[in-house]
Amino acid sequence: MFPPFTLRYARFPERFFASFDPVPVASPRLVAFNRSLAEELGFELGAFDREEAAVWFAGNVVPPGAEPLAQAYAGHQFGGFVPRLGDGRAVLLGEVTDRQGRLRDIQLKGAGCTPFSRGGDGRAPLGPVLREYLVSEAMHAMGIPTTRALAAVTTGERVVRGIPEPGAILTRVASSHIRVGTFQYFAARGDADAIRELADHVIERHYPELARLSGNERYMALIEAIQARQAALIAKWMGVGFIHGVMNTDNTTVSGETIDYGPCAFMETYDPRTVFSAIDEGGRYAYANQPWIAQWNLARLAETLLPLIDSDQERAVEWATEVIKAFEAQYEAEWLAVMRAKLGLAREEAGDRALAESLLDAMHQGHADFTLTFRQLCEAAESGEADSALGDLFERPEVIEAWLERWRERLAQEPAAPSERARQMRLVNPAYIPRNHRVQQALTSAIDEDDFAPFEELLAVVTRPFEAQPGREDYSLPASPRERVFRTFCGT
Ligand code: AMP
Ligand code: MG
Repeated sequence: MFPPFTLRYARFPERFFASFDPVPVASPRLVAFNRSLAEELGFELGAFDREEAAVWFAGNVVPPGAEPLAQAYAGHQFGGFVPRLGDGRAVLLGEVTDRQGRLRDIQLKGAGCTPFSRGGDGRAPLGPVLREYLVSEAMHAMGIPTTRALAAVTTGERVVRGIPEPGAILTRVASSHIRVGTFQYFAARGDADAIRELADHVIERHYPELARLSGNERYMALIEAIQARQAALIAKWMGVGFIHGVMNTDNTTVSGETIDYGPCAFMETYDPRTVFSAIDEGGRYAYANQPWIAQWNLARLAETLLPLIDSDQERAVEWATEVIKAFEAQYEAEWLAVMRAKLGLAREEAGDRALAESLLDAMHQGHADFTLTFRQLCEAAESGEADSALGDLFERPEVIEAWLERWRERLAQEPAAPSERARQMRLVNPAYIPRNHRVQQALTSAIDEDDFAPFEELLAVVTRPFEAQPGREDYSLPASPRERVFRTFCGT
């Protein structure tokens, strides 16, 4: 069933990982399977047998050609450095070459205690597995770089997180699982050879256009390239109201994909200070902080590469400081591009930033739902008749009415016909996001009633985020006061 493995990480020196076979589970059952992703990866699905698949995706049998391992990494968690984290419950089976010739990691998350497990049990509860499945697939459907979910199995065992819950394993696919923390692991050990080897691998795998560069130029360009991808990624998060929740350096990929969906959530009522994660007491990872946290994480990455940049430490630091500072302008440009698209602006005009910001201010003042406001703007782009429905999203419609006038003046400079503009806007402003209360309901049904129908239905809705889905309008609505989710948990 599995495509042939092209082992790559397993060929690194032994200090990069710990060889480790998944620990078999009692009674695996396949509860979700991503057929289109499997096809993209070259899986042989001819006689797909769910029972057989469950055995593979539980890790009860190691697929032929795989050499399972747990990756070593370090990380700053909430600002504090931990020199040895590593995969405490995830096992990389190996890499496969997808239909487009790209290397993709296949990892089982929740596969048992590895040498990096520290105090943990190496397992994952069903709730967080389904949450990651839903949210990562929704992110992908919205065009946001992310790890993917290939399969979820329940294990037939219980995991205890306060109260016992069904255990599960997620099969995660990533363009790689290399993190800022992977570089930090070797930097903390003064292992310059490992850093060079890892950096060269990252270039080969994720930034092949840099392969022609040599000497320090190569590594300087690498930092800049990773930074550019992070700036673009975070701007995309901001554009859909996504709050990651645990932007630690071990949860920051160098590929520019979103990774590790723990207490993540989507903002409903617009407020830049929004925090959902129960463990984020200081609001370090609040919505509006995300770009600056990404910049901080990139500075930690740059520190690890300094020895490859200049043997004169001071000069290296000076250069890196300049580069990291440039993140601000890069991010601002990416954000403005996202906002222009959301507002239907194809041209670039000087007042666009102020226009976008004043819409956010109006939403903040009016306690408006972030997603619905932008989606409703698509209607307003086509006709003034939609204005009152938009106004209804605000506590006092006057705020948005004044803004609409400014917007329409600006739209007068745009070449596209209103209907075409609205069509374009509907391709970037989702109607459906994984609303927190819906995610919660889907998880609860699966956990308490063994009923996966709500999960499947929600998955079907959020993986077509930009399409009108008649009969599913309810899924586009924010939580009622009774349904509202205030806190999310890692659940690890
Ligand atoms: P996370 O918060 O999921 O990014 O994980 C942070 C660190 O804790 C990583 O090193 C994980 O591998 C480890 N970890 C999380 N949950 C568990 C668990 N149940 N058992 C062992 N290690 C874990
Ligand atoms: Mg993590």
